[in-house]
Amino acid sequence: MNKIIDGKTVRDIKKEELIKQILKLNKQLSLVVISVGDDEASKVYVSQKEKMAKSIGYNFINLHYEKIETEELVKKIKELNKDKSITGIIVQLPLPMYLDKEKIINSIDPLKDVDGLTNDNLVKLIKKKNCLIPCTPKGIMSLLEYYNVDLTKKIVIVGRSELVGLPLFHLLLAKNATVTLCHSKTLNLQSYTKKADILIVAVGKKWLITKNMVKKDAVLIDVGINRIGSKLYGDIEDTAIEKSSLMTPVPGGVGPMTVISLMENVYLAYLFQEKQLS
Ligand code: NAD
Repeated sequence: MNKIIDGKTVRDIKKEELIKQILKLNKQLSLVVISVGDDEASKVYVSQKEKMAKSIGYNFINLHYEKIETEELVKKIKELNKDKSITGIIVQLPLPMYLDKEKIINSIDPLKDVDGLTNDNLVKLIKKKNCLIPCTPKGIMSLLEYYNVDLTKKIVIVGRSELVGLPLFHLLLAKNATVTLCHSKTLNLQSYTKKADILIVAVGKKWLITKNMVKKDAVLIDVGINRIGSKLYGDIEDTAIEKSSLMTPVPGGVGPMTVISLMENVYLAYLFQEKQLS
């Protein structure tokens, strides 16, 4: 039996569906990605977004700054907020430490916040209101849906970041799932992971979760991307697939879903701005 959760295939299906919707608009949507500094991984992620955006037919703009101050960046974002030709804005993370990340992210108009990271969108998500949802949790929800994973089972998330773990916790809760959220201060992590029917790990530590820490026949979702030399590793030991019923590979699992979810959010942002969604 094939146990691999194939993010690339699901991404391609989602992409076809999205292109059909966009063609009906008869309008070109624009995505602006703001990047600062010289983070090597960020360059790879920005180019993946560019490739996908262009293949869908979006106008893609990368505003790259070697160095910029918080106030100047906030001013630029406010200009983009007012610009009617721009549909979506994201700030590529991580930002250099000297910048005020909170202030910068929250200066994005929530209706253009296609990464779903502003406080406004996070509160709406918690309150179960229609909003732009962070791309990685959104992509994971799409994968779980595509593979018909039963959400009434015991779910454990490891990692509570505002980018992944925390919004995912609320998205699952909104589907009436029962979820335990573990983090760096959780004592005896394996006492939780071993009981999980669905285990989702978003930490950023190579093979933090070893094969002996997972339950037999569990569904394993590995969000981690750990670059060591030229190779990518997940947060879950790769041999855990032998014990699982389904598992995402790294790369090729959650990553492609994050990118397509961003593209879906650009389309949704347009609908919100045109008040076709509220
Ligand atoms: P983060 O550093 O913001 O958060 C990490 C979380 O892990 C924290 O909540 C922390 O409490 C928890 N943690 C740290 N050490 C732990 C430990 N020993 N035991 C249990 N919990 C621990 O990271 P993030 O932005 O949420 O990203 C996590 C990982 O996911 C990274 O590898 C990142 O590259 C990857 N990521 C992948 C995608 C994708 O598309 N595949 C998208 C976003 C992030």
